[in-house]
Amino acid sequence: MNTTFRPALLVIDMQYDFVHGSLAVEGGHSIIDTVNLLLALPFVAKIASKDYHPPNHISFAETHQKPVFSKIRLLHPDGGEESLEQVLWPVHCVADTPGSEFVEGLHSGALTSIVHKGTHPSIEMYSAFRDPWHLENTVLPSVLESHGVTDVFIVGIAGDYCVKSTALDAVDFGYKTWVVRDAVRSVSFEGTEWTDMQLKGVRIVDSEEVKRMIRDS
Ligand SMILES: [Zn+2]
Repeated sequence: MNTTFRPALLVIDMQYDFVHGSLAVEGGHSIIDTVNLLLALPFVAKIASKDYHPPNHISFAETHQKPVFSKIRLLHPDGGEESLEQVLWPVHCVADTPGSEFVEGLHSGALTSIVHKGTHPSIEMYSAFRDPWHLENTVLPSVLESHGVTDVFIVGIAGDYCVKSTALDAVDFGYKTWVVRDAVRSVSFEGTEWTDMQLKGVRIVDSEEVKRMIRDS
């Protein structure tokens, strides 16, 4: 492996609740084998994120006594006018519960690091890098830096939320960023996330192409 191409694999939220549980994404199960094939390749780091919430998390409809999938505006945690739209989700991926475990069948033994996100009760975190207000980073930026990573290859769930946010942040953090289309599943079928990511400089590839790139590097 040369020093100018040091690829990392980022496996986003391949957890029970997103595949079989309270917030199951259609087709989530069908990407496990492809993710496992990628996990077997010689990436310099293989990192998984876990959505990992306290039971009263701000993204849960139950926390606000509002209907699931309704939307609210969240104000900046430090006050002021700035606000973000928040979809209110069913309770999912509560820390230390079966729903937060990696989905059965995922070769998690191949992982070199695990990044937890959304652990603070009042802050939602789709990106594996940081919260949307850019108040705090997860350990991901320092893990990537410690491995001298140049390129990140992103797979997992959900394409239109956590995969997309992670990919956009990867570009912001200066990484050449690839999203592996056949190893991603989204909540919505609209598909606008692919254009959103490409406009920001994210490259969309398929797993066969990634295999060639990593093997030939
Ligand atoms: Zn969540």
